[in-house]
Amino acid sequence: MKKDRNKQSAPAGKAGGKNGKVFDANLFAAESVKSLKAYVPGEQPSGGGWVKLNTNEFPYPPSPRVAEAIIAELKGGRDANLRLYPNPESRALRRAVAEHFGLEEKNAIIGNGSDDILNLAVRAFADKNLRIGAMRLSYSLYPVLANIQGAKYEEFDFGKNFSIPTRRICESGVNIFFLTSPNAPTAHGYEISEVEKLLKSFKGLVLIDEAYAPFSKAGSAACLVKKYKNAIVVCTMSKGWALAGMRVGWALADESAIGVLDKVRDSYNVDRLAQAAALAAIKDKSYYRRLCAKIVSTRAATEKFFDKIGFGYVPSSANFILVRPAANGKSGADVAADLFGHLKSEKILVRYFASDPLVNDSLRVTVGTPEEMEKFKESVKRWIGSQK
Ligand SMILES: *Cc1c(COP(=O)(O)O)cnc(C)c1O
Repeated sequence: MKKDRNKQSAPAGKAGGKNGKVFDANLFAAESVKSLKAYVPGEQPSGGGWVKLNTNEFPYPPSPRVAEAIIAELKGGRDANLRLYPNPESRALRRAVAEHFGLEEKNAIIGNGSDDILNLAVRAFADKNLRIGAMRLSYSLYPVLANIQGAKYEEFDFGKNFSIPTRRICESGVNIFFLTSPNAPTAHGYEISEVEKLLKSFKGLVLIDEAYAPFSKAGSAACLVKKYKNAIVVCTMSKGWALAGMRVGWALADESAIGVLDKVRDSYNVDRLAQAAALAAIKDKSYYRRLCAKIVSTRAATEKFFDKIGFGYVPSSANFILVRPAANGKSGADVAADLFGHLKSEKILVRYFASDPLVNDSLRVTVGTPEEMEKFKESVKRWIGSQK
């Protein structure tokens, strides 16, 4: 038989190739990718009629100025339209985001969602010798990014009451520590002073992933950027600015850290419409202040409901609640899975991390509109009724 590499590597189809072998591209994959388990995002169901409380999206539409800005961008004429590349550095948006947090343009970088920023940080600051540290639990994308990069990923148990184990982090010698603040998936919030303590004592970089800061009492850690050159404060417009569909996130840090991140960034990582939309959103402060406050009050009402029916939960500083369902005084993975299934059968989607023994007795419930939460509560009550 003639040796023909093209033929050998061509897709062999269901029945297998000539010699019965099924084509497997994984054999060609980089070592770090071969055994990689990809990140699994929450379900995005097709078709309407769902109460979607599973991916922590903002329950209200973005500021009306966002649509206006996108239309204006589309009608921008010859010098500003989709024919042309966007501003490579998202300059205007860097300036606006930096200003929003009392910083300067040189302190900001914009990403195609904050996942893009997290990816840049891993590529820039981690490799097989430069380890990444993070809390167990935290955002489950971090270890996936670390694995792609071939970087060691070290997990740290919480201190008492979810506190930051500062001493252990300092002694570990990791190069960069990813702090999800408020934490996900617990929704536990940290005081700025607690974050500051870590920045002060730790010699490495601290990436503060504050996707949920708009819903927290402590607010943004961006105020620490001027004082601590090892701080990289990352946020997204997906949660607090109702723009998950637009994909915009940022990092705020010392100029030199921004410079390193810029080195590994795609030249045109944020498209024209996203830049225009994000710029309009960040400027409409009063709109978001009002609606974030509304979400916080719906959150309090939902926590009260959980108190009433005897479900345990972590007091939330985010737009979601990690709740431990109980039936007849019993909780556990079976109970959580059962409620998850019941809710889904009534077209209410929440997040269930079935394979993680640390949280598989719990459900992560996004705080929706009061109307959505009413439907959720009614469904939970029906489930409780059916357990007796
Ligand atoms: C949602 C989320 C992100 C990702 O945000 P995108 O901008 O949508 O990529 C990052 N970190 C945490 C902790 C999140 O919850």
